[in-house]
Amino acid sequence: MVEPSAAPSADAAAPAPARRLRVLSGMQPTGRMHLGNYLGALRNWVALQDRYDCTFFVADYHSLTTVTDPATIRPAIAEMVMDWLAAGLDPERSVIFLQSDVPEVAELHLLLSMATPLGWLERVPSYKERLEQYPENINYGLLGYPVLQAADILLPRADRVPVGEDQAPHIELTREIARRFNGRFGQVFPEPEGLFTETPRVMGTDGVSKMSKSRGNTIGILDSPEQIRRTVMTMVTDVERPRRTDRGHPERCNVCALHRFFSPDRWEGIWEGEREARTGCVDVKRWLASAIADHFAPMRERRAELEARPGTVWEVLAAGADRARGAARETLDAARAACGLGHGQPAPAGLD
Ligand code: AMP
Repeated sequence: MVEPSAAPSADAAAPAPARRLRVLSGMQPTGRMHLGNYLGALRNWVALQDRYDCTFFVADYHSLTTVTDPATIRPAIAEMVMDWLAAGLDPERSVIFLQSDVPEVAELHLLLSMATPLGWLERVPSYKERLEQYPENINYGLLGYPVLQAADILLPRADRVPVGEDQAPHIELTREIARRFNGRFGQVFPEPEGLFTETPRVMGTDGVSKMSKSRGNTIGILDSPEQIRRTVMTMVTDVERPRRTDRGHPERCNVCALHRFFSPDRWEGIWEGEREARTGCVDVKRWLASAIADHFAPMRERRAELEARPGTVWEVLAAGADRARGAARETLDAARAACGLGHGQPAPAGLD
């Protein structure tokens, strides 16, 4: 369920390091952001910019493992990045780039693959699930997905990767790949750590499954107030309260859960009203719709400005790729040299 604030990390209590720690995170280009993406990831990314050197990327190589129509990728990138910028990701403070604009990641993926035992990849739960679900449609990209993810993280020498607890095994795999590479070829990669952020599981409008585009149960964060109202009014509420006069169970109602975030000053009163049957589900949904619409009003304005200048997204991504490639080249040169490649070139200087 939804908690109102992004969780702190152990870094908050630690003494300030000599340089700001580097954070990396990415998302596949899935188009416009919904409340799950926002509460589960995006608002936290925005907050991290205050304390870390942040890099955020659009994982378009990764999306090729599942995308069936390549023509859909570019519009989905534009939609998603406009939502990122509108929500407060700041290209002045963060590096924001498109994964395939930094092809160094593909070469690093190749080098890391030499240090990755096949058994490690075959044991990854998401791979095993895919194998069971679509045994006829398994490509190498799916198996190698965690190696590409390791390359994403190790290329900019990220110190921290913000993830939910359930993603911890993926970070551990990256650490193991880095350790094995370092052991076999020489010390090149720092071992990144997960930045364990509280990523709430936001339920969809059906109230029973995680909000996700594939289930068609999403609320778009930057939809018009009218669209938000229409969607929120379809939300499933407290199924144990069939009549308006029955007492409600706000702790089991998804609409009430969302009020905790979007109505920080009045959610307790709203919950009480439900418990005492003073309010009906329609009231609670109407209030939620306007609270969500109000919360995102400034972002909707920023998004409208971005839509009026469609080139901005691509300019931001191009500038981000330039910045990302500088660090990427240094890391890749060090990895190539450690592997005994790149003959005839001077050995790269040490990296911090
Ligand atoms: P996806 O597009 O599903 O890969 O999600 C992108 C990011 O949003 C990931 O960090 C997810 O953990 C987060 N996310 C997506 N859906 C939800 C949800 N329903 N609840 C919480 N976080 C979510």
